[in-house]
Amino acid sequence: MYGTIREDLKKGLQEIREAGLYKEERVITSHQGPEIRVSTGQTVLNFCANNYLGLSSHPRVLEAASQGLKDWGYGMSSVRFICGTQEIHKTLEKKVSDFLGMDDAILFAACFDANGGVFEPLLDRDCAIITDSLNHASVIDGIRLCKAQRYILKHMDMDDLEAKLKETQNAKYRLIATDGVFSMDGDIAPLDKICDLADKHDALVMVDDSHATGFLGKTGRGTHEYRAVMGRVDLITTTFGKALGGASGGCVAGQAEMITWLRQKSRPYLFSNTLPPAVAAATVGVMDLLSKTTELRDKLEKNQKMFRKMMTDAGFDIRPGDHPIVPIMFGKFENDAKLAQDFASRLLDEGIYVIGFSYPVVPHGQARIRVQLSAAHEEEHITKAVNAFTKIGKELKVIS
Ligand SMILES: *Cc1c(COP(=O)(O)O)cnc(C)c1O
Repeated sequence: MYGTIREDLKKGLQEIREAGLYKEERVITSHQGPEIRVSTGQTVLNFCANNYLGLSSHPRVLEAASQGLKDWGYGMSSVRFICGTQEIHKTLEKKVSDFLGMDDAILFAACFDANGGVFEPLLDRDCAIITDSLNHASVIDGIRLCKAQRYILKHMDMDDLEAKLKETQNAKYRLIATDGVFSMDGDIAPLDKICDLADKHDALVMVDDSHATGFLGKTGRGTHEYRAVMGRVDLITTTFGKALGGASGGCVAGQAEMITWLRQKSRPYLFSNTLPPAVAAATVGVMDLLSKTTELRDKLEKNQKMFRKMMTDAGFDIRPGDHPIVPIMFGKFENDAKLAQDFASRLLDEGIYVIGFSYPVVPHGQARIRVQLSAAHEEEHITKAVNAFTKIGKELKVIS
């Protein structure tokens, strides 16, 4: 039986390779950090991790995780409602919801699961979801699992949002779903305007803040703090797999009754194993650290602003913004996709690890190298990266 599908898969894989879309995985032989060793033996500066606060290998986080292992054991071998809830899970839910300024929170094995389990229990076919066209794959999939009518919003277009709110006014409930920060551009959703329109038209607001929790806003609460709408967003989903230590896990935080309802009804919560206690304990440690001091997010902001300024001064076309995702754009050159890829590979020879993205990950003519800054980067790392960009940029005639 396997013969037929095998031939098809081989052919499909060949096509992916020929289109230049095959995703190779680089093997790291060290901890995750600002500097990593890769399997070729080379040591490189890492500018493509979601390790925004440098917590992935932070001594305090490692300590909290190993203490968690000792205190709570390795695994729970259970879902939450059978025998998979320890005090540490309840503590984490309390700390996360307090940090985000929400009533309550419910843990999931990943934010992918949080998004898979947040829509379907709350909205039925008489409801409508208005979803940004660039929302994360897991938001798209979560909405697919839900029977509500789906309306795709032109990316961050508030006129289109108002038109769709008018169009759906007969729905039982309307929910606006948006990423807080969009990962390919570093765009920050205009939550202030979204909440105004939601209030005016009596709609709910859901934000996936995976690329913001822990560092965006003055005290790192996320996009709702950055846009000054804390208390006006109904649901936040987020990940522990990025800024908050980077292991795994996610949650939905929101209004009390909604979270209680999700505990009864959300399928990835009910039918998937509980978060490992060591991860819960480490994330509690992260929440404590970030609640005490803004030092790390302040350093990240400084790094991000420094890198943007230095790259702009060097003559690169940077997508403007205020986020540690900094896209270096190649769209004005012929064959931008190949250029971005060649540029990234030349940077690796210089010891700078970044990734080039092109169609279909981003639109045609918008190929880019996406740089991600971290609080773990020191000024000399950033200078070294900019110098390498400048050197290759001149060689490839991207800057003069
Ligand atoms: C990374 C990401 C996710 C997935 O998070 P995991 O916890 O790794 O499953 C979901 N949504 C957005 C917007 C993300 O950036």
